[in-house]
Amino acid sequence: MKLRLRDHIWFNQTIYTLSVTFILGLFFASATITLDLLDEQVSTRKHAEKMVNAMRYQAAQAVFNIDPLLAEKVAKGLSEYELFQHVYIIDDLGTYLYKIERAPYQSYLSGLSELLFNCDTPIVVPLTYPGSKIEIGNIEVHLDNYLVAEKFFQRAFRTIIGSLFQNMILSICLLILFYYTLTRPLMNLGCQVNEIDPNNPTKKLVVGNLHSKNELGVITSLLNQLLVRLKDVQNKHKRAEQELINQNDTLDFMVKERTVELRDMNNKLNLLATTDPLTGLYNRRFLFEIGTKRLHQMQRDQHSVAVMMCDIDHFKQVNDNFGHAMGDKVLQGVAECFSSIIRKDDILARYGGEEFVILLSEISPKDAQALGERLCRNLNDMVFTHADKSVKISVSIGLSVAPIHCNYDINALINTADMALYKAKELGRNRLEIAN
Ligand code: GH3
Ligand code: MG
Ligand code: MG
Repeated sequence: MKLRLRDHIWFNQTIYTLSVTFILGLFFASATITLDLLDEQVSTRKHAEKMVNAMRYQAAQAVFNIDPLLAEKVAKGLSEYELFQHVYIIDDLGTYLYKIERAPYQSYLSGLSELLFNCDTPIVVPLTYPGSKIEIGNIEVHLDNYLVAEKFFQRAFRTIIGSLFQNMILSICLLILFYYTLTRPLMNLGCQVNEIDPNNPTKKLVVGNLHSKNELGVITSLLNQLLVRLKDVQNKHKRAEQELINQNDTLDFMVKERTVELRDMNNKLNLLATTDPLTGLYNRRFLFEIGTKRLHQMQRDQHSVAVMMCDIDHFKQVNDNFGHAMGDKVLQGVAECFSSIIRKDDILARYGGEEFVILLSEISPKDAQALGERLCRNLNDMVFTHADKSVKISVSIGLSVAPIHCNYDINALINTADMALYKAKELGRNRLEIAN
């Protein structure tokens, strides 16, 4: 992320420090100038007095000897000092032996000068007769206050400029210092943090030796600890995720296994509910269910449907004479025989003990009759064997056809076929009778 200059720590720190130093510098400079101002007038005056005193002897000689040339020399000597505006050499009668008067220094700060240096008191040094204390005149000097002020202002200006310059140098030094000791290591740390791969936070953050023991070092060390903890949490998370995937797989596998088992079980249950265990044919219950649907379909398409009610003749004797096992064998054989002769679409069911029902779709009464007689014949040719014993059987069949004999109704068709069967039994068995 790119930071604006004013958002940098080093820049802000510098600005703050600089502001403080600038204000303090200004305060101290002002204090210095004020003290200087107070001292200025006194020291200038003292200095001036010293200079005047130095010329005192020569001036006394000039006054005593009434020597205007010497007085001129003395006055000119003094007036060389630029701060002296007027120089007067006066005798005890008040006569000016020599005087120099200059115009005051022209300054654009004259207003301020007048405010700060408003002192018109001249420096008056009495002249005494050489060797005695009798006053014979005096030297009177007027200071040029504007010039004194100007000199003071120049000094004050230099002080302020010096202070500003000092602050500027200081600010540059601070900028460099803050940048190298604060911002650069911080940004370096930031870059390292930015380079960390969040999916694999193994990278260790480093900080220069200079900062290893300061706050930066502490932050780096805390961040490193955080990274270690993050890695730990990620590892735990990955392990938990893998475990969850494994458990899901196991669960998935188990669900699939159970589903297959359930489907198998369902199929078995379905088979048990719809078929007869001995012969594998449809049972009576399912015959009514599937038969009803088939009849509706045939009625809709206006096809004829035939129902044969088949009953094995004297089956009780088979059981009685050859045992139940032989009876069962015969039942299975009859089922196989019927199955092999009828069409795949026809419905064959075990209706009761030794009774079978065949529902033939789209068949004429004539064809149905022919098929039934064929069944009878085929069974007559069969020999059933069990435990070295053989038996032959016959079957009686009652045939009814919808819509000729009754409606497309399974109960009505079976009942009608049953009545025809009864007739076949009565007429001697091993035959087919058609319903009336
Ligand atoms: P009909 O010619 O008049 O039909 O004489 P039937 O002996 O065949 O008829 P009946 O009703 O007197 O006898 C049927 C016998 O079938 C009685 C019963 O023991 C036998 N039976 C019924 N179910 C089974 C079975 O599943 N296995 C065996 N082995 N016999 C069965
Ligand atoms: Mg019977
Ligand atoms: Mg019978």
